[in-house]
Amino acid sequence: MRQSEVFRGPLTGLPNRRALLDVIEAYRKNNPESQFGIAIADIDFFKKVNDTYGHNCGDFTLKELSRLFLERAAGKYTVCRWGGEEFCFFLPDLNLDQAGAVMQDVHAAVRKMPLHFADIDYAITITIGVEEYDFKSTTDVVLDRADRKLYMGKVHGRDQVVI
Ligand code: GH3
Ligand code: MG
Ligand code: MG
Repeated sequence: MRQSEVFRGPLTGLPNRRALLDVIEAYRKNNPESQFGIAIADIDFFKKVNDTYGHNCGDFTLKELSRLFLERAAGKYTVCRWGGEEFCFFLPDLNLDQAGAVMQDVHAAVRKMPLHFADIDYAITITIGVEEYDFKSTTDVVLDRADRKLYMGKVHGRDQVVI
């Protein structure tokens, strides 16, 4: 098995990128008049977790983070593993302010999440970019805007939600 395949699906139990894109397209088709939010989250300095505590600790971190995301999402929005340590949220029926508020809560919950691996106690932070559907753009464009906001958050000190 290729390493990139090991990193997907089974580790976090989250849907993958393709599955989320399918959910979004189905929503757009069935709810053409509805707005939605998209958020992309990326762990801050995740490489340091791997380098300092080991790859198993990194994997454990991804699992715990995914669990927190899933618990909070329950029936309200969809979260997927977008890439290695990136996650994408699809927030149906929400505008930018509403999606931003949801993601501020997620951001705060991650900061407070206690992590224990072997005999190590540690914490992580994430940076999030939030965007809303403007009733005209393609999904790719909305995703790209969310990604740019995430990048701005990284450049401006990480550990924040850019709305
Ligand atoms: P930044 O704050 O800029 O996002 O810094 P970063 O260190 O999080 O970003 P970078 O892109 O440099 O590193 C991401 C790391 O995520 C590198 C890669 O080894 C790790 N990673 C990706 N997928 C997995 C995985 O499934 N398990 C583990 N343990 N690490 C992973
Ligand atoms: Mg990354
Ligand atoms: Mg990162």
